[in-house]
Amino acid sequence: MRSTTTKVILFSYTNYPSLICNLEKEGVKMTQDDLLRHGSFTFDLQGVSRAASHQIVRHRIASFSQQSQRYVKITRSYGYLKPSGIPEDLKVPVEIHGRKMELSFADVMDLTRQAEEGLVATGIKAEDSRYLRPNAATTNIVMSMSPRQLIHFFNLRCAPDAQWEIRDVAWSMYGAVSLAAPRVFGPLPAAEESEFVRKRVMLINELVQKQDSAFEKTPPGELFHLELSPQLDFSHPVESFVRRY
Ligand SMILES: Cc1cc2nc3c(=O)[nH]c(=O)nc-3n(C[C@H](O)[C@H](O)[C@H](O)COP(=O)(O)OP(=O)(O)OC[C@H]3O[C@@H](n4cnc5c(N)ncnc54)[C@H](O)[C@@H]3O)c2cc1C
Repeated sequence: MRSTTTKVILFSYTNYPSLICNLEKEGVKMTQDDLLRHGSFTFDLQGVSRAASHQIVRHRIASFSQQSQRYVKITRSYGYLKPSGIPEDLKVPVEIHGRKMELSFADVMDLTRQAEEGLVATGIKAEDSRYLRPNAATTNIVMSMSPRQLIHFFNLRCAPDAQWEIRDVAWSMYGAVSLAAPRVFGPLPAAEESEFVRKRVMLINELVQKQDSAFEKTPPGELFHLELSPQLDFSHPVESFVRRY
């Protein structure tokens, strides 16, 4: 069992050029504000920790579908995300029934998995056994948001005071929407107040522009791998994908 890579997949999104063109044919002109109000972006976030998914679902103006822990078999679903601030080889002393030992982060993850599987093997329901699962355990969550709500999300979660994992996910999402809908997402309002945000917005714009022609050539329905790392220094391994419509 190994620490997993997070995948941010922009799976489906409004075809703005087509929307604008069709509405114009009907005599409706879309302003920038209209573009923010109409449209939807659906992300498949794979391999985020339960700690981060708990932060993500606090955003109420969004729709979510999260992988079930009750019905997905633990042997198939169990992964975890180790914060990079915790060294692989760091061990902490623990004591159980008078027996002392030293355990690493990975050891504890392995123990919780074994204990959960053990409970299931004795006939305990998965919905009860899963109470052993730690915050680091990874999950998959599908999230849909309007552009206006996404900008609010980016303003809060791309900021330097956001936690590293959700911040990595938010920047990866921002890169994906910048590629998919450049007319809708310009520089973030938060860039006016934060040098950190301003520099990253500029870097992402550069990276997106460089990869735009390759994205244009991607066959419809296929996923394009948007390379943001290593130029964007993520705190953990994150890969971004945009599905071409
Ligand atoms: C750096 C950081 C640290 C945090 N720390 C904590 C913490 O320690 N503890 C904690 O509990 N949370 C914490 N949070 C979560 C935070 O309190 C919010 O729950 C989360 O950021 C969602 O923000 P939101 O409510 O603006 O977004 P959304 O729920 O997406 O809502 C967007 C906007 O819509 C409006 N809105 C949505 N629903 C309603 C409603 N029912 N009524 C009226 N207006 C509504 C509001 O204007 C809101 O700002 C933290 C967030 C950040 C970014």
